[in-house]
Amino acid sequence: MFKLSFAAALLLSSAPALADALVDNVNGITMDKDGRVIRFNGLLLSPDGKVTALLSASDKRPAKLDWRADMKGRVLLPGFIDAHGHVLDLGFRASALDLSETNSLADAQAKIRAYAAANPDRAWIVGGGWNQERWKLGRFPTAADLDAAVSDRPVWLSRADGHASWGNSAALKAAGVTARSVSPPGGRIEKVGGQPSGVFVDAAEALVSKAVPTPLPKERDAAFIQAQRLLLSNGVTAAADMGTTVDDWLTYRRMGDQRALRVRIISYAAGVEPALQVGGAGPTPWLYADKLRMVGVKLYADGALGSRGAWLKAPYADAPGQVGAGFMTDTQLQNRMSRAAMDGWQVAVHAIGDRADAQVLDAIEQMAETYKGDRRWRVEHAQVADPADLPRFGRHGTIASMQPIHQTSDRTMAEARLGPTRLTGAYAWASMLKNGGKLAFGSDFPVERPDPWAGWAAAFTRADAEGQPFGGWQPQERVSREQAWWAFTGGAAYAGFAERQFGNLQVGQRADFIIVDRDPLLASPTDLRATKVEETWVGGEKMWERGK
Ligand SMILES: [Zn+2]
Repeated sequence: MFKLSFAAALLLSSAPALADALVDNVNGITMDKDGRVIRFNGLLLSPDGKVTALLSASDKRPAKLDWRADMKGRVLLPGFIDAHGHVLDLGFRASALDLSETNSLADAQAKIRAYAAANPDRAWIVGGGWNQERWKLGRFPTAADLDAAVSDRPVWLSRADGHASWGNSAALKAAGVTARSVSPPGGRIEKVGGQPSGVFVDAAEALVSKAVPTPLPKERDAAFIQAQRLLLSNGVTAAADMGTTVDDWLTYRRMGDQRALRVRIISYAAGVEPALQVGGAGPTPWLYADKLRMVGVKLYADGALGSRGAWLKAPYADAPGQVGAGFMTDTQLQNRMSRAAMDGWQVAVHAIGDRADAQVLDAIEQMAETYKGDRRWRVEHAQVADPADLPRFGRHGTIASMQPIHQTSDRTMAEARLGPTRLTGAYAWASMLKNGGKLAFGSDFPVERPDPWAGWAAAFTRADAEGQPFGGWQPQERVSREQAWWAFTGGAAYAGFAERQFGNLQVGQRADFIIVDRDPLLASPTDLRATKVEETWVGGEKMWERGK
C-alpha cells in the first residue's frame, strides 16, 4: 500500500525531485512550543523553506542535499517577530526629518532649519520624533517656535509617541485652522489665549494632516523598502502592522507581486472599513508563501500617556481635572468589535490608560458571549492597568501585546503623569503572565527603534541602556529572559494566528532565522543590547547580510 502510493506520487510529480537543504555547523538556540530552551547543531529544510528537523552534532546528515551552508559554529536563533509596529511609518520616518535625538527646542529648531535648506523641493516639511519632556520645555512647543525655524512653507511634525502633531503658521493656514476651529471628539486643539497654539492632540491632528499631500505609490514603495531593510538588519523577520490602510495594503501587494517582499507582515486593518475592502468576507489567506496576511482589525480606545490622551480612571497626577479621553462610547466600541468578529476578523484594541483598559476588557467579556471559539482578543499596549483589572487579562484567551522598551523610555514621564499609587499596574508584564494573560512583545516602531535586543534586555531588567534605575524600576514586574524571548518569537506568532506558519523553528514552520555574533542567553544585559545581526534568513533564503 505504501509502495503503491509512493510510486503514484512519483508519477504525478513533473518537476525533478528536490532534495532537502542543510544549514549546518551552527550554535543553534531556540525554544520548544512550551517555552523550553533547546540547542541544536544543524537545521534541515524542505525545498520550500520549511524546517524538517533540528539536528544534534551526532545526528546523521542526509547523503543527498540540494545545498548546504556551513555556518562555522556561529549562533543561530529564530527571527524576531515584532508584535506591534507600523511598517510604512517606519519607512517614511527614515527619510523624513527626525527630531528624536534632539535635547532642546533650540536644538530642534536648528535641525528643522538645516533639513528645510537641504530639501528645497519639498512642498511640506514633514517628520517627527519631538518630545517636549526630553527638551525639558515645561510646555508644548508652539507654531511661533516653528515659524522661527521655517516660515516659507508648511511644517508638520508628529510627537515621538505619534499621538500629537506640531505645525507652523503656514501649515495651520494651509489647513484652514483658525481660532474658531473646534476640537473634535477624541482630540484636542491646544490653545494659547484662545488661539490654536500649533499642537494638535489625537483626533485633532486630522484637522491639519488632511492638508498634507498624500505620498505617491512610488514613494510608498520606497518607504517600504527602507522599512524592510531596517527590520531585517535588526533581526526582525516578521511584524504585525498595526493599522494597515488600503493604500498600505496595495503597497504590500505590489511588493509581493514583484517578489520584493522579504519580511513577513501580519496585517491589522486601520479600522473596520479597510478590512472589509481588503478581505471582503473575512481575513485573507496567507499570500506569497506566508509573507502577507490581513488577519484582524485595529481599533483605538484612547490616546497616549505623554500627550495626556490616555484615558484614566482618576485624574492625571500632573494635570488635576484631566482624565484624558475615550475615543468611543462603550456601545460604539462593541459595535465595531462585533462587526469585525462576526466575519472572523481578530480584534486588536489600543488601550493605554486604566479606564480604556477596563472599557476594552468589558467589551471582550461581552463579545465572548456571542463569538465563541479561538478569538485571541488583543489589547495593544495595556500600559496602565488598574491592579483590580489585571486578573481579567487571563480570561477569554486575551493577549496583552506590550512593548518593554516603552517602560524604560517612559519611566519618569509615567511617574509624573500617574503619581506613585498607580505605578503598580503600569507595564505589568509579570502580572499579565501570573494572571494567565498571554504576552506578545514588540517595539511599536517607529515610536521606538525596531530593535528587539533593547526590548528583550528591558523586559528582564526593567532598566535602561545605562542600567538605570539600579535593580530595575518596579522590578517585581520583570519577566525571565526566556519568557521575554518567547514573547518576541512564539508568543508574537501566536498573537497573530501565525504559529503554524512561523515562530520558533518548530518542525513544519518556515525557516526564519538569524545569525548573530553572541549567545543571547549568556550575554549580560549590556552585551545583549549590543548584539550584531550578521545574516537574516526568511523561509530558508538569505534576505539580508551585514555589509552587503
Ligand atoms: Zn502603535
